[in-house]
Amino acid sequence: MKRVYNFSPGPSVLPLPVLERAAAEMTDANGAGQSVMEMSHRSKDFKPIIEGAEALLRELMGIPPNYRVLFLQGGASLQFSMIPLNLASGEQAGPEAPGKKAVYIETGIWAKKAAAEAAKFVDVSVPASSKDRAYTYIPAAPAPEPGDAYYHITLNNTIVGTKWAGLPDTGPVPLAADISSCILSEPLEVAKFGVLYAGAQKNLGPAGLTVVIIREDLIGHAPSWVPALLRYDIHAGEGSMYNTPPCYGIYIMGLVLEWLKNLGGLPAITRLNQEKAGLFYRYLEQSRLFRSPVEKSCRSLMNIPFVCTEADPARREELETRFVKEAAAQGLVNLAGHRLVGGMRASIYNAMPIEGVRALIQFMEQFEKTNGK
Ligand SMILES: *Cc1c(COP(=O)(O)O)cnc(C)c1O
Repeated sequence: MKRVYNFSPGPSVLPLPVLERAAAEMTDANGAGQSVMEMSHRSKDFKPIIEGAEALLRELMGIPPNYRVLFLQGGASLQFSMIPLNLASGEQAGPEAPGKKAVYIETGIWAKKAAAEAAKFVDVSVPASSKDRAYTYIPAAPAPEPGDAYYHITLNNTIVGTKWAGLPDTGPVPLAADISSCILSEPLEVAKFGVLYAGAQKNLGPAGLTVVIIREDLIGHAPSWVPALLRYDIHAGEGSMYNTPPCYGIYIMGLVLEWLKNLGGLPAITRLNQEKAGLFYRYLEQSRLFRSPVEKSCRSLMNIPFVCTEADPARREELETRFVKEAAAQGLVNLAGHRLVGGMRASIYNAMPIEGVRALIQFMEQFEKTNGK
């Protein structure tokens, strides 16, 4: 069987050497005579796996010592609740109870969901949004007020294909960022953030693991009514082992990080990601059938939406549906845009080889020709 080029936004493509190594270790990992899936999370066999994964993540991202790394479950979506619960909630439960104000910049559907969830617990302000132009740009970010609990951004907007080109200056107010779809895709100055979080299934490994990177002084402020599993202090205090962590996901992430390190780490993957995205955007620029709907200054390296230029909506939809179907028949799969925005989208995460991007462009050139452009 031939492997496809998988342009899925998540769960998404993993490096082939990682999958092959996991297959080879499936029934006997590191001479333990058992699969990682069968190991006790507190065993001597699992200890080097979780510690090694954290050490590699710290090394690759340059995470300062005053930050904790947590391996949690519940996806990025659970962090939409945990951040307000831990960083802004007052001594009484509920949105009317006095707590602190949290700031959210609305740059897409995930950003909007994060703000809506926080508004169930705390006072939320949304001083900027790019909804007026279907989230195709990043709005100017107003400064927070000094007493605000935190300032939340979605660094890379997976669905609409934008990314923040620079970071907002939030002064002493901690910057919180959803980096689910751009973690380890290019350098990030961790010290500029109070808390970072990412679901693993985009750029790190399988679904089921969520990585949280949080500055130590932001841990320990959750009021007593916040449930144990939703508290950063509990997870940090127990080294992500208050309950069973997503062991297999942590193991695969460790293999992905090793792969990335052997490739040359962030400098090497940044060059490669810029080359891949550059090829694709340059092709879209000169295409007569396809175009990018996203403003140039804030285009994502990881998720590239595109639409057909056809003016008639019915004909456009027919073309786009046929494009996705014919591409899949050629082994270029999962190219449909998000169900809420339509069109197409190529997610080209770290593990997508440049050959996959070249094959997609070649197919698009062919599709243009056979469709009279
Ligand atoms: C995928 C994604 C989410 C949702 O992640 P889950 O792990 O499914 O909860 C949230 N934010 C961004 C930016 C994403 O790309």
